Amino acid sequence: MALASEGMTDCLFCKIVAGDVPATVVLDDSDWLAFEDIGPKAPVHVLVILKRHVADIGELATDPAAAAALVAGIGSVAAHLGLSSYRTVFNTGAEAGQSVFHVHAHVLGGRSLGWPPG
Ligand code: AMP
Ligand code: ZN
Repeated sequence: MALASEGMTDCLFCKIVAGDVPATVVLDDSDWLAFEDIGPKAPVHVLVILKRHVADIGELATDPAAAAALVAGIGSVAAHLGLSSYRTVFNTGAEAGQSVFHVHAHVLGGRSLGWPPG
C-alpha cells in the first residue's frame, strides 16, 4: 500500500493535499478534498480526490471504505454547487486520458454534456 499520512513526494495531488501546491478548494473533508480543475472543460469542473494516495480505480476497488468516501465527496460537491445534472468521470490508464496517477473524479456540469463522450 502506498504511503498514507506523509503522502507521495512525487505525486501532484498529494502535494495539493499537503498544501505544497496551491489549489482552489471547493470542499475539504477529513478523507477527501475537492478543488477546481486547473484546465476546466465545463463551467463547473471540480476534481474530487482521496487525501490518501490511491493510484487508480483498480487500487480503489480493494478499499471499499475509501471508495465510499470518494463517492460521498462527489455527492457533497454536487449538492454544495446545486448541480441537478452533472457527469462524473474517472479516466483510468494513460490511453483513457489519465495523466495524474492519484485517483480522482472529474465532476463536470454547468452546460449540456454530449453523449457518448469522445
Ligand atoms: P486526468 O487527465 O484524468 O488524470 O486528470 C487530471 C486533471 O488534473 C486534468 O484535468 C488537469 O487539468 C488537472 N490538473 C493538473 N494540474 C492541476 C493543478 N495543479 N490543479 C488543479 N488541477 C490540475
Ligand atoms: Zn498522490
